[in-house]
Amino acid sequence: MPKRLNDEITFMILPHSGHTPFSFKMSWGVLVFCLTILFFGALFVIGTFFFALSVNSKLSDYQIVKSQNARQVEEIRQLKIESESLKKDLKRLSDEERELRSNLGISEPSDSTSKAKSDKSSSIEGITPIGSEDMGNLFGVTMDPRLANIKNELSIVRTQLSSRERSFLQISQIAKRKINEYASFPTGFPADGVITSYFGYRPAFGDFHPGIDVATSYGSPIYATGDGVVVFAGWYLSGYGMTVIIDHGNGYETIYAHDSAFAVRVGQRVRRGEVIAYIGLTGFTTGPHVHYEVHHYGRVINPMSVVGANPAEL
Ligand SMILES: [Zn+2]
Repeated sequence: MPKRLNDEITFMILPHSGHTPFSFKMSWGVLVFCLTILFFGALFVIGTFFFALSVNSKLSDYQIVKSQNARQVEEIRQLKIESESLKKDLKRLSDEERELRSNLGISEPSDSTSKAKSDKSSSIEGITPIGSEDMGNLFGVTMDPRLANIKNELSIVRTQLSSRERSFLQISQIAKRKINEYASFPTGFPADGVITSYFGYRPAFGDFHPGIDVATSYGSPIYATGDGVVVFAGWYLSGYGMTVIIDHGNGYETIYAHDSAFAVRVGQRVRRGEVIAYIGLTGFTTGPHVHYEVHHYGRVINPMSVVGANPAEL
């Protein structure tokens, strides 16, 4: 080993092709310097190589993330369109429901009012985004919170739809009951004829007439004035003659007297307008007609007060 860095060392090169050998000198210091430069140069080249590899890999990751983001943006756009469409449908459904309730005279259920308020406060504009943790991470990039917003919005729409469904079910049940109630309400006329005697006191006869008389030709049909069940078809008291009695439910009963023949039997369910008997002269009568009475919980009422009436308004 040299004692000093400025001691010189000679390199001789001997070519095999007969050319003149040549030599050169350099100090140990220069040699050490050159070797150091060579070492760090090699380190730099190797380092640059691995750095380039790493950058290439990151670029590849970036491309994937970029492509995922583009897909996500498209997904958000589609979801937004779907969400807006659902909200419009829901609004239309709610308007229909409100109109239906108004027309049928059905009040808003108490829980639905408060529910609607809470739905309104948390939906549409004022959406509170749910956490995006459950949306997962992609290459360390958190998913767009707008996606979480829309998912939250759709969840609210779903809840509201479920609430509307329950509400419509309730409306449907009430409507069916009302339709049934209306169908069974004795609101029609018992025959196509003329009214020859009204309900009430009759000075000419000096009696109280508990129904109306509808006169038409002998043998003409007598119709049920509402849906119900035939509870009587036979000879009823002395003055009524052959009579049909129908129970309509809700306390209503109708009586059709002076018939010549029956078209129904006891226990039979009949609809409004269905032929139940035929005009006759049985009982106390001066001409062919049907004596028609309406009873409500056993009390006789004026048939004209319910002809064409809406049971909901009585
Ligand atoms: Zn009469």
